[in-house]
Amino acid sequence: MGAFIVATAVVHYMASAITDRGRKRPSNEDAFGYSDEDGVYVVCDGMGGAAAGEIASSLAVDEVLRLTDGAGHDAESFAVPAALEQAIAAANEAIYTRSQRNQRLSGMGTTMVALAVRDAHAWVLNVGDSRCYRLRQGRLEQITADHSLVEEQVRMGRMTSAEASRSPLKNVITRALGTQSRVTPDVFALEIEPGDLFLLCTDGLTRELTDKAIEAMLCNNGSLTEHCSNLVEAAKRAGGHDNVTCLLVSAAS
Ligand code: CA
Repeated sequence: MGAFIVATAVVHYMASAITDRGRKRPSNEDAFGYSDEDGVYVVCDGMGGAAAGEIASSLAVDEVLRLTDGAGHDAESFAVPAALEQAIAAANEAIYTRSQRNQRLSGMGTTMVALAVRDAHAWVLNVGDSRCYRLRQGRLEQITADHSLVEEQVRMGRMTSAEASRSPLKNVITRALGTQSRVTPDVFALEIEPGDLFLLCTDGLTRELTDKAIEAMLCNNGSLTEHCSNLVEAAKRAGGHDNVTCLLVSAAS
């Protein structure tokens, strides 16, 4: 047997997540799922009448986890981010096909924010307005850019953030999984530093809490589960107008 040399720093990942209906909505259309073994973490926020939103978001999470199952053991056939992009394309098609076949599910869709980690590398892919943040050395940074009408106006300098948050169009997203036959996620490639903490969340969190408030809470001592619970409870105290989901992934050497 030859010597086995580890060329890159070994990084260990741990995750915890909570989803909550909130205080106003009759059901929870958010969904999350992850596999520490495969290094894949997903949060979705579904939309559509009746139970369609719940179907879309859970279908998306299930498809992505199913199609990346084994990624942790087979780095060659699961080259990231291509494997994750393919899984998202397949999830899109699965939702779209189902909505075409069943009139009750017509128009259903979902956002998706997904994180894939391998050694000291990470990739974040997103569609819609669910977000990924990274906390590094006490500073919270938003990694993704929302695919929403008002946030695109803000990025083009046509609207201020304050105007965006008051706009009646703030719910309009410009990209979703399952509403068209094809979808293109944004892809962000990142290098991990031990101590990094990733937050994947739905707008039920970020509409209720400012980035500064989230940053302050994540800087407190506590386990990942306690952090998730504190964030969700704070969003509910702030109104809980929407379903709220937090998924935290920490990187340690
Ligand atoms: Ca939502």
